[in-house]
Amino acid sequence: MEFEPTIGLEIHAELATQSKMFCSCPNRPDELPPNTAVCPVCLAHPGTLPVPNKEAIRHILRIGVALGGELSFGFSEFDRKNYFYPDIPKGFQLSQYAYPFVCGGALRGVAITRVHLEEDTARSYHEKDGTTLVDFNRAGVPLMELVTEPVIHSGEEAAAFARELQILLRTLGASHANMEKGEMRVEANVSVAPKGSELGTKVEVKNLNSFRAVEKAIAYEIRRQVSLLREGREVRQETRGWDEVKEQTVPQRRKETAYDYRYFPEPDIPKLRLERLAEEHLQWRLEEICRSLPELPWERRERYGELAIPPEQCEMLVANLELADFFDAAVTAVNGEAEAARLAANYLLTDIVGAGGIGALKPEGLAEAVLLYQESALSSRGVKEVLQLLRAGEGEGKATRAVAEQHNLLQVSDEGALDAVVQKVLEREEKAVVEYCAGKEAALQYLVGQGMRESKGSANPNKLKSLFKQKIQCP
Ligand code: ADP
Ligand code: ZN
Ligand code: MG
Repeated sequence: MEFEPTIGLEIHAELATQSKMFCSCPNRPDELPPNTAVCPVCLAHPGTLPVPNKEAIRHILRIGVALGGELSFGFSEFDRKNYFYPDIPKGFQLSQYAYPFVCGGALRGVAITRVHLEEDTARSYHEKDGTTLVDFNRAGVPLMELVTEPVIHSGEEAAAFARELQILLRTLGASHANMEKGEMRVEANVSVAPKGSELGTKVEVKNLNSFRAVEKAIAYEIRRQVSLLREGREVRQETRGWDEVKEQTVPQRRKETAYDYRYFPEPDIPKLRLERLAEEHLQWRLEEICRSLPELPWERRERYGELAIPPEQCEMLVANLELADFFDAAVTAVNGEAEAARLAANYLLTDIVGAGGIGALKPEGLAEAVLLYQESALSSRGVKEVLQLLRAGEGEGKATRAVAEQHNLLQVSDEGALDAVVQKVLEREEKAVVEYCAGKEAALQYLVGQGMRESKGSANPNKLKSLFKQKIQCP
């Protein structure tokens, strides 16, 4: 029997805001000493009242628009999700249940169920001696939760989705979305069923701290479930964790259901009617939110496709905002000319990235190097050398041409200067001239090589070649 795996993702991301979700504590949990970014609200002292963070809500709405989802402008609310755990001081988490800010939408062709806003928990540190320490700096940090439909069918596809979401969140400035730092956390629901039949029992896999873990854990879980079913056994609905060392999923606990959480609307926060905010403030109008969006990753990809940037280079750029913005500035500096843009992408992504990054290089410096190459004033090797000099801060902002000149990297194209070189070579290389006239093309290359040597590498080889052709008078 053939089995088909199905995966739905639940992805959390800490939003990049000034302050926490329901109080004015700074949202910088890792930068400050433990338990210093706290106040009576996020420590859940009795009698305190939460005030929703507009910046966080705006992030969620922008994310929703970018994903093509439907925004809850008419009505939305927060709900209490009740459970006990030492890292959750209120005994409940403020989240959204029936009325999330965003419903629907899609990313990479994967249908999205909902995107809602909630608050992060505190962070527990389990010490070797068995004690557990809790840092409440993270308690109440705004958290996005995105839930996909069960429409993904492999670990690679799931990891690709998560990667794309990370790029999107960064592009929007909504989250740093660093998985290693826990700023973005992926949970995968995995089930397996005979092809064509209803979905099987799902297992939720947590602790996925990298894209590689997402891919591997899902692949492992699919194999585990398929072999259970082949043995005629059942898959138990549960939560499992990913053991990075053993590279397997391990049981954690039986899964709670929504019923266990006793969700109910938060009575201390007024119902949210965002259209009222939009009536008062321009920046809350849907058109304004749409207008505020930067170029989205797939739009950028399309634009790079039009420049015929090779797909792998396109992905490298799209995945790295700093590089992509640098590249775009260089493209502007060559007036968007496609050939020059491709050269710029190539030097940027191979030589400059390969050497350790942009350093002191400016986009205009890269653009000028490419233009010098195109007019044959620099050889490809010359471009690479001058780029390294500019990276290292050489010239202090001087034009690329000036730096190249100073380091004797400019190719001589001046006919007068090259004439002398050609003359000299022709005088001493009679044998090669005879061979060339006898039809041996290699002899011409040899002569050009001699000319390069004679000029200590400074001659423009194409110019030399045509000069030799002109000057040799075959009988
Ligand atoms: P729960 O109430 O257990 O949280 P949901 O219906 O809210 O379940 O779904 C949570 C996540 O699990 C979603 O991402 C959804 O796509 C996924 N999911 C639901 N059913 C399945 C299934 N049978 N196989 C794989 N994923 C599933
Ligand atoms: Zn606080
Ligand atoms: Mg759920």
